[in-house]
Amino acid sequence: MISSRCRMATSGFAFRPLKKPLGLPRTRARIIQDFVRANASTTDNSEIRRADVVWGYEGSEIPAQDWPSHFPCGCGSRQSPINIDLSSVQYSENLDPLKLNYSITPHYIINDGHGIRVHYQPGSTISGANLENPYELVQLHFHWGSGKGFGSEHTINGKAGEAELHLVHWNHIKYNSVQEAMDAPDGLAVLGIIMVENTRRANFSTRKLIKHFPYIRKIGEKYPCSGTIYLNEMIPNLSKFYTYDGSLTTPPLNEAVKWIVLGKPLYVSSNEMEIFRSLQHIHGNNFINNYRPLQPKNGRTVNNNFELEAEPILR
Ligand SMILES: [Zn+2]
Repeated sequence: MISSRCRMATSGFAFRPLKKPLGLPRTRARIIQDFVRANASTTDNSEIRRADVVWGYEGSEIPAQDWPSHFPCGCGSRQSPINIDLSSVQYSENLDPLKLNYSITPHYIINDGHGIRVHYQPGSTISGANLENPYELVQLHFHWGSGKGFGSEHTINGKAGEAELHLVHWNHIKYNSVQEAMDAPDGLAVLGIIMVENTRRANFSTRKLIKHFPYIRKIGEKYPCSGTIYLNEMIPNLSKFYTYDGSLTTPPLNEAVKWIVLGKPLYVSSNEMEIFRSLQHIHGNNFINNYRPLQPKNGRTVNNNFELEAEPILR
């Protein structure tokens, strides 16, 4: 059951573009002022608006360990991310193959103050796995670390990648809006892809997308994204995956997510990781190490659809 306060915290933003795409370095206070101003017309809950500005990762005013006291969904028992312990995953032959039907043109890119999101128009879908019906793609984003050996949110047998790609979908068949879906246990489906820094094995598939990121500097402004970006190139072998019931890994931490984590990583080059790591942060360390620490599994079942024997663990 999700509390009403939890529901309030899900209020979305429709960002009002600021005038200049690039600006001079600003003070932290000014940046926050701009962010609040950019959102002021779209929500009337000042407490939530402020929390959205100040939550962050290590070094911020509300680091990850303090999120649950500000966002009550985070006190639940199905929080994400988790370590996928291969000794306890359960093979399920009832899981359908994953199918992706993605548009090649993103709608816009936005810097939300915690990372960079790439939004899509309605029409792109994911189906299969443990999903009752197709779910529609809303946006994708990344989490990453500042160095080797950490940065992904999920880990497999305790091993992390250097980053993680999340493709966020909502159950548009069952619910009327993303907001409504965020309050339902089957409202969202996130495809998680662990990214491993390995230049020799990289296919450089993220380059077309992330080359835009250094220019997405104004918080809250929508940057149009022209050109085609084939998401399928960024998604490794779909045939092996893990699924479990979890939550958003950023505030408001709603326990609404059917997680699908691919068994194979996406290999990325050191140059690609360098683009992520050199993105300018807004306050604190928001743009590096923007991954949430592991959460308790609390007896949840993680299902998989493949034989584990002889499967390499990330590397
Ligand atoms: Zn994420």
